[in-house]
Amino acid sequence: MGNKTPVIAGNWKMHTTLSEAVDLVTKIGQGTDKGWRVETIVCPPFISLAKLKELTAGTPIELGAQDVFYEEIGAYTGEISPGMLSGLCRYVIVGHSERRMYFCETDETVNRKLKASIKHGLRPIMCVGENLTENESSNAESVISRQIKEGLKGIESAELLIAYEPIWAIGTGKAATAAYANNIMGLIRNLLKGLFGSEAALNIPLLYGGSVNASNITELLSQPEVDGALVGGASLKADQFLSILKQAG
Ligand code: PEP
Repeated sequence: MGNKTPVIAGNWKMHTTLSEAVDLVTKIGQGTDKGWRVETIVCPPFISLAKLKELTAGTPIELGAQDVFYEEIGAYTGEISPGMLSGLCRYVIVGHSERRMYFCETDETVNRKLKASIKHGLRPIMCVGENLTENESSNAESVISRQIKEGLKGIESAELLIAYEPIWAIGTGKAATAAYANNIMGLIRNLLKGLFGSEAALNIPLLYGGSVNASNITELLSQPEVDGALVGGASLKADQFLSILKQAG
């Protein structure tokens, strides 16, 4: 990871009512040590963003949304535009495997969402990763290459983060080994160098996601290509998330 500030992002998924979100962010805020050198991001459901923006103002906690639509405005029932988010949060997760799996997201829609987010000054956390079958048939590298190349087609700004999340490691308790994650993330870094040039690519934070917890975060972050983590389950318990932040920072 070198000398960069680690990035730890919590993806709360479809968990927490407004009051539960307030409670969780309050506990994270109270437990955070200002001396920790870590970029802390929490991504609650949309309904809590406005309240959490008030509560996190002036704290080291940054906010992210879990998704965004690519159109600016219009008859798109249920959708949220990047312009609506830009005053509420700094980050947005784009192309999470659950969105690709359950909501028919493709490399093309991911690409449109990335472009729309960047246009509105949001920093996307673009998720890529292979499923178990692809992993077992040694197709991880080709799947990830396709996701990166298609997802980033026509994008010139390197103001984004990439989360490598092998689908077989998400929510399973079976994280990838640090060496395996580092190897795939090295491939991602090389693809980014080809797209954005070496210097810009080195500055793009690469996060690992998939069963990250307080016991494996240190080893993951010790890898040269791992700049941080996208954390699901363990971000919903303040003590576990704080323990990850403490070790990262
Ligand atoms: C995720 O879904 O982004 C994730 C990494 O989940 P978990 O940490 O629970 O595996």
